[in-house]
This record gives sequence, structure tokens and C-alpha cells, in this order.
Amino acid sequence: MLTCVGYAASSPTSPLAPFAFERRDCGPLDVQIDITHCGVCHSDIHTARSEWGPASYPCVPGHEIIGHVKAVGPDVTRFKVGDRVGVGCMVNSCRTCASCEAGLEQYCDASPTWTYNSPDPAFPTEGAYTFGGYSRAIVVDEGFVLRIPENLDPAAAAPLLCAGITTWSPLSHWKIGTGHRVGVVGLGGLGHMGVKFAVALGAEVTLFTTSPSKVEDGKRLGAHRVVISRDEQAMAAEANRFDFILDAVSADHDINAYLSLLKQDGHMVLVGLPEKPMSVGAFSLVAKRRSLAGSAIGGIQETQEMLDFCGQHNIVSDVEIIRMDEINQAYERVLRSDVKYRFVIDMASMPDSIAG
Ligand code: NAP
Ligand code: ZN
Ligand code: ZN
Repeated sequence: MLTCVGYAASSPTSPLAPFAFERRDCGPLDVQIDITHCGVCHSDIHTARSEWGPASYPCVPGHEIIGHVKAVGPDVTRFKVGDRVGVGCMVNSCRTCASCEAGLEQYCDASPTWTYNSPDPAFPTEGAYTFGGYSRAIVVDEGFVLRIPENLDPAAAAPLLCAGITTWSPLSHWKIGTGHRVGVVGLGGLGHMGVKFAVALGAEVTLFTTSPSKVEDGKRLGAHRVVISRDEQAMAAEANRFDFILDAVSADHDINAYLSLLKQDGHMVLVGLPEKPMSVGAFSLVAKRRSLAGSAIGGIQETQEMLDFCGQHNIVSDVEIIRMDEINQAYERVLRSDVKYRFVIDMASMPDSIAG
């Protein structure tokens, strides 16, 4: 077994702290990765604090993982020692259900094995659950390892593994491109990638933000228009305008206010996962045959396609690099919507051991 140091939450209310644990040895189809960077997703906070239901503790979050291949099992064909690779939100799935066969492993009928806080059938002892990327190393089946284009900065590429694919997948599924008017709600980790991708795909993009301080950044990131969502008059002026709205908000908010901004047959897609249920007024949908949908990350193949697109178009996240021991302050800043626009942990700052 591989002894590993990570940062874990030990309860919903405790700060993250160093924690030693074991990874499985590299199996025949496994890739052992030395992690260099890991992004900080709002889902890490929801999970570490049991906001989506009880988490398993200790909980080591982190699913925007970039590193180098340290070792490969004898049957691995796609990777070799030294390759730059990434791991996102999943590390395995059943591979036989209709969703898996369609390359949409995130919708696996049996539930994918999530990168952290998920039952781990691959661990040698029963009852184990997965530990994520706030650690120096990880062992992952090659089928769930991604290639990272060499021209992308590794720290700035890390958030592509979750924030990137989660916004790319719905834009791609709903075939967004030139001639579409797209709204992106919330300028955080996901939202800023939603803006970059929708602009790169040729759409006219409007950012909706609660933060007046983000107007200039929204434009710098490529948004053609920015609306302050707390300004009722400004919101009313946007009615019936949009083909597609991507909602990337992490907290309770009124989605009916956005549904009414869709034109006839427009789609609003939720990627944000606030902990409380939302209510939808039937009139908001029925009035103009609008639809409301949700979307989870993306499959492995489309994640690779997104990464390759980013390589070709030089698209990465805007990141603030932090040390591992700054993680608890970073969480507080994310909760204050004060992240520009993704924190990424430099894993060289992880202690080698927790002794002393
Ligand atoms: P984030 O960086 O914290 O961004 C969330 C943004 O939402 C904030 O920056 C803020 O933008 C806006 N916001 C926050 N509180 C708000 C409120 N009370 N009312 C209105 N707007 C508010 O979070 P993230 O990492 O991008 O994640 C966003 C959500 O997506 C989280 O719930 C996360 O768990 C979820 N997620 C889902 C998937 C999936 O597969 N569907 C994948 C990853 C993450 P402004 O300052 O611009 O208003
Ligand atoms: Zn995430
Ligand atoms: Zn499956």
C-alpha cells in the first residue's frame, strides 16, 4: 500500500487538517499519479460540510487533479511514466449500463465511483471510501485518466477537470454556437468557465452576477453584456431574450427570475447544486414552452474532447494559487463569492508527513 498525506475534514464543522491514509497499490490497469495541483470546487465545501447529506469522515476532497504519471500497471496501454495527466470527479463506473456504454459515465445506473467520499470497491479492504486530490498522490484506473495538452499551464488547467467539463457538457449537448443568446448566472469557478466556453463557441454572452465588483472581470473574460441580478429593472429589461441560460449558482436563489428571461422554446440548465430544494412556478415554463434541465459534469470522452479544445484554443481558468495550509481561508473566501475565479492548491506545499 502507498502511504499518503492529505488534508481532511474530520466532521462537518472542523477545519481541514493534515491526515495520513493509504492508497491501493498500482493494479494491472492502474496509473499512479504524483499530484502537482488540485483545484478547489464549491462541491468540496458542500461535501466536507455534509450539506448534501452526511459525508464519510475523514473526508479528503479534491477532484480537479493534475499531475505526472509516476508508475503504471503492466496492462496499461494509454499512459507511460512522466506523462502529464488529469483526474476529474469520477475514478470508475460500471461500464456496462446504457449510460456508460454511451460514454456518459457520470449518469451510470450503478452510480460512478466518485473521486472522493464514495464507496471504493477497488480498495483491498471492505467498507473503504475514496479520498480525493488534496494529497500528493492518487491511483486511478487508466480508463478514468485524462491527457492534459502540454501547452496548458498545469495550475490553470486543473479546474478544467470539473468547472470546465461541467460547463462545457451542457453547452455542447444543447449545441450552443453562433447566433445563440446565452446567459450565464454566477461568476465563480463554473460560471467563469461557462462565459469563456460560450464566447469561444460563438454565442452572444450575458453574465448575470450579484456582485457589482465583477462587472469589469466579466467583460475581460469575454462576456458581451453584464447584468446585476439584484437590479429588478435591469432584469425586467432582459425578458424573453435568451435561447439558453446556464445557472452556476451555489446557494439558494429564485430561478423563476431567470426562466422568464428565456424566449419561446428556450432552455435553462442548472449545474449549480444548492443544498435546499428550489420551487418553480408552472407559469414560468408553460407560458412560452420553456424547459428546465440539469446537467452533471461530463463523460470521460467528452472531457478529453474539452481538454483538447482548450489546448487548441489556449483556454484555461483564471486561478489564484494557494498553499495547502491556506485551504480553510480559501473556503471562507469562496463562501463570500470572493474567488477570482478558482483557487488551486500547489501540492508542493503539502507536508511530507504529519509526524511532529
Ligand atoms: P463558486 O466558485 O462559489 O461560484 C458560485 C457563484 O454563485 C458565486 O461566485 C456567486 O457569483 C454566485 N452566488 C453565490 N451565492 C449566491 C446567492 N446567494 N445568490 C445568487 N448568486 C450567488 O462555486 P462553483 O465551484 O463554481 O460551483 C457552483 C455550484 O455548482 C456549486 O453548487 C457546486 O457544488 C456545483 N457544481 C455542480 C457540478 C455538476 O456536475 N452539476 C459540478 C461542479 C460544481 P456572483 O458573485 O457572480 O453572483
Ligand atoms: Zn467540482
Ligand atoms: Zn454504468
